[in-house]
Amino acid sequence: MTALFGLLADEFVETAARAVKEAGEPSYRIDQLRRWLYERTPQAFSDMEGLPRSLRDHLAETFVLHPLDYDLDMLSEDGTRKFLWQREQGNDAGRIESVLIPDGDRVTYCISTQAGCPVKCTFCATGYGGFSGNLSTAEIIDQVVQIRTRTSLAPTNLVFMGMGEPLLNFDGLLRALSIMTDSRQLGFGSRRITVSTVGIPERIRQLSRAFPQVKLALSLHAVDQGLRDELVPLNLKYPLDEVLDAVREHCDATGKKVTFEYVILPGVNDSADDAKAVASKVRGIPASINLIGFNPFDEAPYRKPSLKSMLAFRDELDGSFAGDVTLRRSRGEDIQGACGQLSLKNRPAT
Ligand code: SF4
Repeated sequence: MTALFGLLADEFVETAARAVKEAGEPSYRIDQLRRWLYERTPQAFSDMEGLPRSLRDHLAETFVLHPLDYDLDMLSEDGTRKFLWQREQGNDAGRIESVLIPDGDRVTYCISTQAGCPVKCTFCATGYGGFSGNLSTAEIIDQVVQIRTRTSLAPTNLVFMGMGEPLLNFDGLLRALSIMTDSRQLGFGSRRITVSTVGIPERIRQLSRAFPQVKLALSLHAVDQGLRDELVPLNLKYPLDEVLDAVREHCDATGKKVTFEYVILPGVNDSADDAKAVASKVRGIPASINLIGFNPFDEAPYRKPSLKSMLAFRDELDGSFAGDVTLRRSRGEDIQGACGQLSLKNRPAT
């Protein structure tokens, strides 16, 4: 069955028109359905009051409304709320996560694009949880609409920083961005969307062309080739120098800054020399740098950094890098807040 949330705006109109006609209803029902779908999003077609019962029944027989089943959610003492969803396939590897992060007036949804991740970064819980495939466009959109409906907190920002490498599910990502930003669908501002990647040069270029207003974040974590190969194995295929060339082109083409993400791993990438090397490597790129303290989990071979060592690294970097350097608060640690930790923690024993 077709999942309506996977359809681009024109495809939706065509598909809805056919269904409405089959149910013997007038064409103004198409717009009623569109509003229900993108603006209010109930749990089931049967809840779409105002549509005739016969049309609701026909829609339920013909289409999938929510491809993700709600599994559980956990609320952190800092307000961060993490959701675990079960994919329709129904196996454990099909569980995915999304996170809602409130911060003053901002409400950020952190969205997944893959079930697990094939990149296997050594500091990331998702990488240890295996990989079972790309999410469909409808599954990406469903995270947004289900969180919105379940919390009544509409997002002010959307970040693709959940499970998976977004640029490895490129078609799904581009379609989702279209549905998120089209005024006939979710109508979300492109400027408030961030795509975070470990770096695939040609796809960064394509993304810049297709959605120049969407912000780019690059997971840096190391600038030494050997260390980055180890931490971010996709670096073996797409070396950092090539990635940074694409990032420079992105900044030139879009007029936007990029954000470099850097997870601090004690004794691995947090020396004063590391800080100087980072500043030197990205010099000339309009950017800010987000430092994130590593959030430990059982499988990872790293320790949690002390606040003192993180501040020392930040100060060292701040002294040699021209852009903003921020030390990001770790959110939702009490609920396995980092990407992939909740699903790893809730895997049934084998
Ligand atoms: S950090 Fe991103 S790319 Fe690396 S394993 Fe985790 S989800 Fe995948």
